[in-house]
Amino acid sequence: MELRTLDRQGRFYRGTLHIHTTVSDGELTPEETKRRYRENGYDFIAITDHNRYGVYREPGEDDFLVLPGTEIDCVYQEQVHHIVGIGTEENTFPHGYRFEGLKDRHPQELVDVLTGHGNIAVYAHPFWSYCDPELLLRLRGLTGMEIINYSCEQTWRSGLGEVHYEYLLSHGSRLWCFGADDAHGHSPDYFGGYIMVKAGSLSREAVCDAIRRGSFYACYAEPGESAPEIYDFRVEDGMAKIDCSPARTIYLNVSRTCYRSLHGTEAEPVTHHEFRLPENARRVRAIVKDFRGHVSWTQPIAI
Ligand SMILES: [Zn+2]
Ligand SMILES: [Zn+2]
Repeated sequence: MELRTLDRQGRFYRGTLHIHTTVSDGELTPEETKRRYRENGYDFIAITDHNRYGVYREPGEDDFLVLPGTEIDCVYQEQVHHIVGIGTEENTFPHGYRFEGLKDRHPQELVDVLTGHGNIAVYAHPFWSYCDPELLLRLRGLTGMEIINYSCEQTWRSGLGEVHYEYLLSHGSRLWCFGADDAHGHSPDYFGGYIMVKAGSLSREAVCDAIRRGSFYACYAEPGESAPEIYDFRVEDGMAKIDCSPARTIYLNVSRTCYRSLHGTEAEPVTHHEFRLPENARRVRAIVKDFRGHVSWTQPIAI
């Protein structure tokens, strides 16, 4: 029997789903933002200005996809929460829609507003927000959380959500992990956090469906560089198996007491790792690190 989240068929597309423009507090216009990402080898982006909905889809643009989106926020019991919404084909927010009256609501209401209008909801930068992981664990309807938010990482090194993510998984959560730029342009925060989505085509429907199924992995690399490529990750007859580009370390993690890491050198990098899972394993995920410290995270495979 084989288990996987990455589709067998299709190809990988590179994108980031959290960017600000001059519509809120970003430095570049939406047009300039699209141009820069396209020039830097991206296949898709979402423009997600604060508390405004943005739909920037233009007919005839088949080789670069701009997903509709927003980022909405609240302060509940002195705790700030930011939630990114990505518009699927079912999105019902019009371009320019302003979110009002949400500032003092519970974050669950923000998630419900987004999902109720056909959006994928992603919890943004949990470290930057000082998010209580217990609260995050109780939110319903999220598709995932940012495991790397490049802008937070660049501005004050609060972009990594690894501790939050492992906490959630260890308590039974099935959220996916995302890499995102959250680019504003005030600091060099473009092209560092992204996802690689495996889908049959570069359409909104195909990319959003792939994201919902977990057919993607999250990446963190410095601008102009790429994080390790994950070619495939699966569980075959009780064995977790990963194939990737030449790497320094491959981690296969079940829990804090059950894992197998494999280490290479620049002369002999590692590109494959496998591990027979114990009977009681409930999930497994992989993390790959290269020789420059760039990291890719698979989604967890539920067993
Ligand atoms: Zn934010
Ligand atoms: Zn943001």
